Amino acid sequence: MMDRLYADHNASSPLRPEAREAMLRVMDLGGNPSSVHGEGRAAKRALEDARETLAHTLECGADAVTFTSGATEAVHLAMESAKAMGFGPIFVSAVEHDAIWSYAYHLWPDAQIIPVNQGALIDVNWLSQEFDRQGGQPLVIAQAANNETGTIQSLDTISTRVRAAGGALLCDAVQLLGKASVGQFAGLADWLILSSHKIGGPMGAGALIAAPGIEIVNTRAGGGQERGARSGTENVAAIAGFAAAAAVACPDEAVQAFQEQTSQARHGFELAVATALADADFVSHGVRRLSNTSCVVVDGWEGARQVMAMDLAGAAVSAGSACSSGKVKMSRILKACGYSDGAAASSIRVSFGWSSQIEDGARLAELYLQAAARAGHALSTQAA
Ligand code: PLP
Repeated sequence: MMDRLYADHNASSPLRPEAREAMLRVMDLGGNPSSVHGEGRAAKRALEDARETLAHTLECGADAVTFTSGATEAVHLAMESAKAMGFGPIFVSAVEHDAIWSYAYHLWPDAQIIPVNQGALIDVNWLSQEFDRQGGQPLVIAQAANNETGTIQSLDTISTRVRAAGGALLCDAVQLLGKASVGQFAGLADWLILSSHKIGGPMGAGALIAAPGIEIVNTRAGGGQERGARSGTENVAAIAGFAAAAAVACPDEAVQAFQEQTSQARHGFELAVATALADADFVSHGVRRLSNTSCVVVDGWEGARQVMAMDLAGAAVSAGSACSSGKVKMSRILKACGYSDGAAASSIRVSFGWSSQIEDGARLAELYLQAAARAGHALSTQAA
Protein backbone atom coordinates (compact mmCIF):
# COMPACT_ATOMS: atom_id res chain seq x y z
CA MET A 1 0.00 0.00 0.00
CA MET A 2 1.32 3.39 -1.04
CA ASP A 3 2.29 5.75 1.77
CA ARG A 4 -0.59 8.25 1.51
CA LEU A 5 -0.33 11.87 2.60
CA TYR A 6 -3.58 13.12 4.13
CA ALA A 7 -4.04 16.89 4.01
CA ASP A 8 -7.81 17.25 4.16
CA HIS A 9 -8.43 17.63 7.90
CA ASN A 10 -10.94 20.45 7.38
CA ALA A 11 -13.15 17.92 5.57
CA SER A 12 -12.69 15.24 8.23
CA SER A 13 -9.86 14.56 10.62
CA PRO A 14 -8.84 10.94 11.31
CA LEU A 15 -10.16 9.41 14.51
CA ARG A 16 -7.97 10.09 17.54
CA PRO A 17 -7.03 7.04 19.62
CA GLU A 18 -8.62 8.60 22.71
CA ALA A 19 -11.92 8.93 20.83
CA ARG A 20 -11.74 5.34 19.60
CA GLU A 21 -11.14 4.05 23.14
CA ALA A 22 -14.05 6.06 24.54
CA MET A 23 -16.33 4.72 21.82
CA LEU A 24 -15.33 1.11 22.32
CA ARG A 25 -16.05 1.41 26.05
CA VAL A 26 -19.56 2.69 25.36
CA MET A 27 -20.35 0.28 22.54
CA ASP A 28 -20.03 -2.58 24.98
CA LEU A 29 -22.71 -1.11 27.29
CA GLY A 30 -25.57 -1.91 24.95
CA GLY A 31 -28.48 -0.09 26.64
CA ASN A 32 -30.71 2.75 25.45
CA PRO A 33 -30.07 5.91 27.51
CA SER A 34 -33.83 6.49 27.82
CA SER A 35 -34.43 3.08 29.43
CA VAL A 36 -34.73 2.91 33.19
CA HIS A 37 -33.08 -0.50 33.73
CA GLY A 38 -29.43 -0.96 34.63
CA GLU A 39 -28.17 -1.17 31.05
CA GLY A 40 -30.13 1.95 30.15
CA ARG A 41 -28.84 3.80 33.19
CA ALA A 42 -25.27 2.89 32.27
CA ALA A 43 -25.79 4.31 28.77
CA LYS A 44 -27.38 7.41 30.26
CA ARG A 45 -24.40 7.83 32.57
CA ALA A 46 -22.02 7.60 29.61
CA LEU A 47 -24.09 10.21 27.79
CA GLU A 48 -24.15 12.60 30.74
CA ASP A 49 -20.44 12.07 31.40
CA ALA A 50 -19.77 13.07 27.80
CA ARG A 51 -21.97 16.16 28.24
CA GLU A 52 -20.08 17.14 31.40
CA THR A 53 -16.74 16.60 29.68
CA LEU A 54 -17.70 18.70 26.66
CA ALA A 55 -19.22 21.44 28.81
CA HIS A 56 -16.10 21.58 30.99
CA THR A 57 -13.91 21.73 27.88
CA LEU A 58 -16.02 24.50 26.34
CA GLU A 59 -16.38 26.47 29.58
CA CYS A 60 -20.18 26.32 29.57
CA GLY A 61 -22.86 24.66 31.67
CA ALA A 62 -23.81 21.05 30.91
CA ASP A 63 -27.43 22.12 30.36
CA ALA A 64 -26.26 24.36 27.50
CA VAL A 65 -25.19 21.32 25.45
CA THR A 66 -27.59 19.61 23.04
CA PHE A 67 -26.06 16.69 21.18
CA THR A 68 -26.98 16.22 17.53
CA SER A 69 -25.92 14.05 14.61
CA GLY A 70 -23.46 16.70 13.42
CA ALA A 71 -23.13 20.38 12.68
CA THR A 72 -25.75 20.36 9.93
CA GLU A 73 -28.47 19.17 12.28
CA ALA A 74 -27.31 21.59 14.97
CA VAL A 75 -27.60 24.43 12.45
CA HIS A 76 -31.14 23.42 11.59
CA LEU A 77 -32.13 23.30 15.26
CA ALA A 78 -30.53 26.66 15.95
CA MET A 79 -32.12 28.37 12.98
CA GLU A 80 -35.55 26.94 13.69
CA SER A 81 -35.22 28.20 17.27
CA ALA A 82 -34.18 31.65 16.08
CA LYS A 83 -37.12 31.71 13.71
CA ALA A 84 -39.52 30.70 16.49
CA MET A 85 -38.12 33.48 18.68
CA GLY A 86 -39.01 35.98 15.95
CA PHE A 87 -35.63 37.56 15.25
CA GLY A 88 -35.33 39.87 12.24
CA PRO A 89 -33.84 41.29 10.08
CA ILE A 90 -31.60 38.33 9.21
CA PHE A 91 -27.98 38.76 8.13
CA VAL A 92 -25.90 35.88 6.75
CA SER A 93 -22.22 36.20 5.96
CA ALA A 94 -21.30 35.62 2.33
CA VAL A 95 -18.78 32.94 3.23
CA GLU A 96 -20.91 30.55 5.29
CA HIS A 97 -20.64 26.81 4.66
CA ASP A 98 -23.43 25.32 2.51
CA ALA A 99 -24.92 23.66 5.60
CA ILE A 100 -25.67 27.15 6.93
CA TRP A 101 -26.13 29.05 3.70
CA SER A 102 -28.77 26.83 2.10
CA TYR A 103 -30.90 26.40 5.21
CA ALA A 104 -30.78 30.11 6.05
CA TYR A 105 -32.18 30.94 2.63
CA HIS A 106 -34.74 28.18 2.94
CA LEU A 107 -36.06 29.65 6.20
CA TRP A 108 -35.53 33.32 5.36
CA PRO A 109 -35.62 33.95 1.59
CA ASP A 110 -35.14 37.66 2.30
CA ALA A 111 -31.96 37.18 4.39
CA GLN A 112 -29.33 39.81 3.66
CA ILE A 113 -25.76 38.96 2.72
CA ILE A 114 -22.96 40.39 4.86
CA PRO A 115 -20.12 41.31 2.48
CA VAL A 116 -16.53 40.16 2.99
CA ASN A 117 -13.18 41.48 1.78
CA GLN A 118 -10.70 39.62 -0.45
CA GLY A 119 -9.42 37.72 2.55
CA ALA A 120 -12.96 36.49 3.42
CA LEU A 121 -13.17 38.79 6.45
CA ILE A 122 -16.67 39.93 7.37
CA ASP A 123 -17.31 43.67 7.01
CA VAL A 124 -18.28 44.49 10.59
CA ASN A 125 -18.77 48.19 9.88
CA TRP A 126 -21.30 47.42 7.14
CA LEU A 127 -23.14 45.30 9.69
CA SER A 128 -23.19 48.09 12.30
CA GLN A 129 -24.52 50.57 9.76
CA GLU A 130 -27.32 48.17 8.80
CA PHE A 131 -28.23 47.68 12.46
CA ASP A 132 -28.61 51.45 12.81
CA ARG A 133 -30.52 51.78 9.56
CA GLN A 134 -32.90 48.83 9.90
CA GLY A 135 -33.42 48.46 13.64
CA GLY A 136 -35.45 45.47 14.84
CA GLN A 137 -33.89 42.48 16.61
CA PRO A 138 -31.23 41.38 14.15
CA LEU A 139 -30.06 37.81 13.84
CA VAL A 140 -26.50 37.52 12.57
CA ILE A 141 -25.31 34.22 11.16
CA ALA A 142 -21.53 34.33 11.02
CA GLN A 143 -18.91 31.62 11.16
CA ALA A 144 -15.89 31.66 13.46
CA ALA A 145 -13.45 30.45 10.79
CA ASN A 146 -13.76 29.63 7.13
CA ASN A 147 -13.39 26.03 6.01
CA GLU A 148 -11.90 26.93 2.61
CA THR A 149 -9.60 29.89 3.28
CA GLY A 150 -9.02 29.48 7.03
CA THR A 151 -9.94 33.12 7.69
CA ILE A 152 -10.65 33.71 11.39
CA GLN A 153 -13.45 36.22 11.92
CA SER A 154 -13.40 38.94 14.58
CA LEU A 155 -16.02 37.12 16.60
CA ASP A 156 -15.63 39.26 19.72
CA THR A 157 -16.29 42.46 17.76
CA ILE A 158 -19.21 40.92 15.87
CA SER A 159 -20.69 39.61 19.13
CA THR A 160 -20.31 42.96 20.92
CA ARG A 161 -22.01 44.85 18.09
CA VAL A 162 -24.84 42.33 17.71
CA ARG A 163 -25.58 42.39 21.42
CA ALA A 164 -25.41 46.19 21.56
CA ALA A 165 -28.04 46.21 18.81
CA GLY A 166 -30.30 43.91 20.87
CA GLY A 167 -29.83 41.03 18.44
CA ALA A 168 -28.50 37.48 18.54
CA LEU A 169 -25.53 35.69 17.02
CA LEU A 170 -25.62 32.21 15.51
CA CYS A 171 -22.06 31.05 15.00
CA ASP A 172 -20.68 28.05 13.16
CA ALA A 173 -17.47 27.36 15.09
CA VAL A 174 -16.87 23.98 13.43
CA GLN A 175 -13.52 24.96 11.97
CA LEU A 176 -12.24 26.93 14.96
CA LEU A 177 -12.75 24.19 17.54
CA GLY A 178 -9.41 22.70 18.57
CA LYS A 179 -7.52 25.16 16.34
CA ALA A 180 -7.82 28.22 18.59
CA SER A 181 -8.25 28.64 22.30
CA VAL A 182 -11.78 28.13 23.63
CA GLY A 183 -11.57 31.70 25.00
CA GLN A 184 -11.82 32.97 21.42
CA PHE A 185 -15.42 31.85 21.10
CA ALA A 186 -16.75 30.83 24.54
CA GLY A 187 -19.76 32.91 25.56
CA LEU A 188 -19.77 35.02 22.39
CA ALA A 189 -22.64 33.38 20.49
CA ASP A 190 -26.26 32.70 21.35
CA TRP A 191 -26.15 29.48 19.35
CA LEU A 192 -22.76 27.85 18.79
CA ILE A 193 -22.44 25.01 16.28
CA LEU A 194 -19.81 22.26 16.62
CA SER A 195 -18.93 19.04 14.83
CA SER A 196 -17.07 16.01 16.13
CA HIS A 197 -15.34 14.70 13.01
CA LYS A 198 -13.41 17.91 12.36
CA ILE A 199 -11.37 17.47 15.53
CA GLY A 200 -10.63 13.77 15.38
CA GLY A 201 -13.88 12.56 16.87
CA PRO A 202 -16.17 10.21 14.95
CA MET A 203 -18.62 11.25 12.25
CA GLY A 204 -22.26 11.37 13.29
CA ALA A 205 -21.98 13.60 16.35
CA GLY A 206 -22.17 17.33 16.86
CA ALA A 207 -23.44 19.82 19.37
CA LEU A 208 -25.45 22.95 19.70
CA ILE A 209 -24.40 25.16 22.59
CA ALA A 210 -27.10 27.59 23.65
CA ALA A 211 -26.43 30.75 25.66
CA PRO A 212 -28.36 31.23 28.91
CA GLY A 213 -31.96 32.23 28.17
CA ILE A 214 -31.90 30.76 24.68
CA GLU A 215 -34.42 28.02 24.17
CA ILE A 216 -34.00 25.22 21.65
CA VAL A 217 -37.27 24.68 19.83
CA ASN A 218 -37.77 21.06 18.83
CA THR A 219 -39.69 21.01 15.57
CA ARG A 220 -39.50 17.25 15.14
CA ALA A 221 -42.03 15.29 17.15
CA GLY A 222 -40.71 12.16 18.83
CA GLY A 223 -39.35 10.81 22.07
CA GLY A 224 -38.24 14.19 23.43
CA GLN A 225 -34.63 13.22 24.09
CA GLU A 226 -32.01 15.86 24.94
CA ARG A 227 -34.43 17.42 27.44
CA GLY A 228 -37.02 17.86 24.72
CA ALA A 229 -34.67 19.70 22.38
CA ARG A 230 -33.90 16.90 19.94
CA SER A 231 -35.99 13.76 19.54
CA GLY A 232 -34.32 10.47 18.61
CA THR A 233 -32.12 8.03 20.51
CA GLU A 234 -28.71 9.59 21.07
CA ASN A 235 -25.68 8.07 19.35
CA VAL A 236 -23.98 7.56 22.70
CA ALA A 237 -20.80 5.95 21.38
CA ALA A 238 -20.21 8.75 18.86
CA ILE A 239 -21.02 11.37 21.50
CA ALA A 240 -18.53 9.78 23.92
CA GLY A 241 -15.91 9.80 21.15
CA PHE A 242 -16.68 13.45 20.40
CA ALA A 243 -16.28 14.49 24.05
CA ALA A 244 -13.04 12.52 24.36
CA ALA A 245 -11.63 14.13 21.21
CA ALA A 246 -12.60 17.60 22.44
CA ALA A 247 -10.99 16.96 25.83
CA VAL A 248 -7.72 16.14 24.07
CA ALA A 249 -7.86 18.76 21.31
CA CYS A 250 -9.19 21.87 23.05
CA PRO A 251 -7.06 22.66 26.14
CA ASP A 252 -4.77 25.66 25.49
CA GLU A 253 -1.54 23.59 25.54
CA ALA A 254 -2.97 21.18 22.96
CA VAL A 255 -4.11 24.06 20.76
CA GLN A 256 -0.67 25.65 21.00
CA ALA A 257 1.04 22.41 19.98
CA PHE A 258 -1.44 22.00 17.11
CA GLN A 259 -0.76 25.54 15.91
CA GLU A 260 3.02 25.10 16.03
CA GLN A 261 2.97 21.78 14.23
CA THR A 262 0.48 22.70 11.52
CA SER A 263 1.82 26.20 10.86
CA GLN A 264 5.27 24.74 10.23
CA ALA A 265 3.84 22.13 7.88
CA ARG A 266 1.87 24.82 6.07
CA HIS A 267 4.88 27.12 5.89
CA GLY A 268 6.90 24.33 4.27
CA PHE A 269 4.15 23.83 1.70
CA GLU A 270 3.53 27.50 0.90
CA LEU A 271 7.18 28.49 0.76
CA ALA A 272 8.10 25.73 -1.67
CA VAL A 273 5.07 26.34 -3.88
CA ALA A 274 5.44 30.14 -3.89
CA THR A 275 9.13 29.85 -4.74
CA ALA A 276 8.64 27.51 -7.69
CA LEU A 277 5.21 28.31 -9.08
CA ALA A 278 4.77 31.96 -10.00
CA ASP A 279 1.12 31.30 -10.99
CA ALA A 280 0.15 30.32 -7.41
CA ASP A 281 -1.87 32.77 -5.31
CA PHE A 282 -2.51 32.06 -1.62
CA VAL A 283 -5.97 33.24 -0.54
CA SER A 284 -6.25 35.08 2.83
CA HIS A 285 -2.47 35.07 3.15
CA GLY A 286 -2.44 38.49 4.80
CA VAL A 287 -5.28 37.96 7.26
CA ARG A 288 -5.52 36.09 10.54
CA ARG A 289 -6.18 32.52 9.49
CA LEU A 290 -6.18 28.99 10.85
CA SER A 291 -2.63 27.67 11.24
CA ASN A 292 -3.45 24.46 9.38
CA THR A 293 -5.17 25.77 6.24
CA SER A 294 -3.84 26.92 2.89
CA CYS A 295 -6.04 27.86 -0.04
CA VAL A 296 -4.13 28.00 -3.32
CA VAL A 297 -5.40 29.36 -6.61
CA VAL A 298 -3.61 28.46 -9.84
CA ASP A 299 -5.71 30.21 -12.46
CA GLY A 300 -6.51 27.95 -15.40
CA TRP A 301 -5.88 24.68 -13.52
CA GLU A 302 -9.31 23.44 -12.43
CA GLY A 303 -9.61 22.58 -8.76
CA ALA A 304 -11.17 19.19 -9.47
CA ARG A 305 -8.27 18.33 -11.79
CA GLN A 306 -5.75 19.43 -9.17
CA VAL A 307 -7.40 17.16 -6.62
CA MET A 308 -7.41 14.21 -9.01
CA ALA A 309 -3.76 14.76 -9.91
CA MET A 310 -2.83 14.90 -6.23
CA ASP A 311 -4.87 11.81 -5.45
CA LEU A 312 -3.07 9.87 -8.16
CA ALA A 313 0.20 11.10 -6.70
CA GLY A 314 -0.82 9.75 -3.28
CA ALA A 315 -2.10 12.88 -1.50
CA ALA A 316 -5.59 13.86 -0.30
CA VAL A 317 -6.49 17.55 -0.65
CA SER A 318 -9.79 19.22 -1.41
CA ALA A 319 -11.17 21.44 -4.16
CA GLY A 320 -12.97 24.68 -3.43
CA SER A 321 -14.83 24.02 -6.63
CA ALA A 322 -16.54 20.82 -7.67
CA CYS A 323 -17.09 19.20 -11.03
CA SER A 324 -20.52 17.79 -11.76
CA SER A 325 -21.99 16.67 -15.09
CA GLY A 326 -18.94 17.91 -16.92
CA LYS A 327 -19.33 21.45 -15.58
CA VAL A 328 -16.87 23.01 -13.18
CA LYS A 329 -18.62 24.62 -10.24
CA MET A 330 -16.89 27.66 -8.85
CA SER A 331 -16.10 28.20 -5.21
CA ARG A 332 -18.91 30.39 -3.85
CA ILE A 333 -16.51 31.51 -1.14
CA LEU A 334 -13.83 32.77 -3.53
CA LYS A 335 -16.48 34.46 -5.67
CA ALA A 336 -17.71 36.29 -2.55
CA CYS A 337 -14.12 37.37 -1.93
CA GLY A 338 -14.06 39.01 -5.37
CA TYR A 339 -12.07 36.40 -7.29
CA SER A 340 -12.75 35.98 -11.01
CA ASP A 341 -14.77 33.00 -12.29
CA GLY A 342 -11.57 31.43 -13.60
CA ALA A 343 -9.76 31.77 -10.28
CA ALA A 344 -12.80 30.61 -8.29
CA ALA A 345 -12.86 27.41 -10.34
CA SER A 346 -9.13 26.81 -9.87
CA SER A 347 -8.51 26.53 -6.14
CA ILE A 348 -7.55 23.75 -3.80
CA ARG A 349 -7.54 23.65 -0.04
CA VAL A 350 -4.77 21.96 1.88
CA SER A 351 -5.49 21.35 5.55
CA PHE A 352 -3.13 19.72 8.01
CA GLY A 353 -4.18 18.31 11.39
CA TRP A 354 -3.37 16.50 14.59
CA SER A 355 -1.81 13.52 12.79
CA SER A 356 0.26 15.62 10.33
CA GLN A 357 4.04 15.78 10.50
CA ILE A 358 5.95 19.00 9.88
CA GLU A 359 7.69 17.39 6.88
CA ASP A 360 4.29 16.73 5.28
CA GLY A 361 4.25 20.34 4.05
CA ALA A 362 7.42 20.04 1.96
CA ARG A 363 6.45 16.55 0.79
CA LEU A 364 3.05 17.77 -0.32
CA ALA A 365 4.63 20.73 -2.13
CA GLU A 366 6.92 18.39 -4.04
CA LEU A 367 3.96 16.32 -5.25
CA TYR A 368 2.02 19.48 -6.07
CA LEU A 369 4.82 21.00 -8.10
CA GLN A 370 5.32 17.78 -10.04
CA ALA A 371 1.58 17.71 -10.81
CA ALA A 372 1.64 21.38 -11.83
CA ALA A 373 4.53 20.75 -14.21
CA ARG A 374 2.67 17.79 -15.73
CA ALA A 375 -0.38 20.06 -16.19
CA GLY A 376 1.79 22.47 -18.17
CA HIS A 377 2.59 25.12 -15.54
CA ALA A 378 6.07 26.53 -15.71
CA LEU A 379 8.24 26.07 -12.63
CA SER A 380 11.04 28.44 -11.78
CA THR A 381 14.49 27.07 -12.65
CA GLN A 382 15.51 27.31 -9.00
CA ALA A 383 13.07 24.52 -8.13
CA ALA A 384 13.22 22.50 -11.35
N1 PLP B 1 -19.66 24.09 8.92
C1 PLP B 1 -18.41 24.03 8.45
C2 PLP B 1 -17.56 25.27 8.48
C3 PLP B 1 -17.90 22.84 7.94
O1 PLP B 1 -16.66 22.80 7.47
C4 PLP B 1 -18.75 21.69 7.91
C5 PLP B 1 -18.27 20.41 7.31
O2 PLP B 1 -17.79 20.37 6.19
C6 PLP B 1 -20.05 21.80 8.40
C7 PLP B 1 -20.47 23.01 8.91
C8 PLP B 1 -20.99 20.60 8.42
O3 PLP B 1 -20.58 19.71 9.42
P1 PLP B 1 -21.22 18.24 9.61
O4 PLP B 1 -20.49 17.36 8.66
O5 PLP B 1 -20.92 17.86 11.02
O6 PLP B 1 -22.67 18.34 9.34
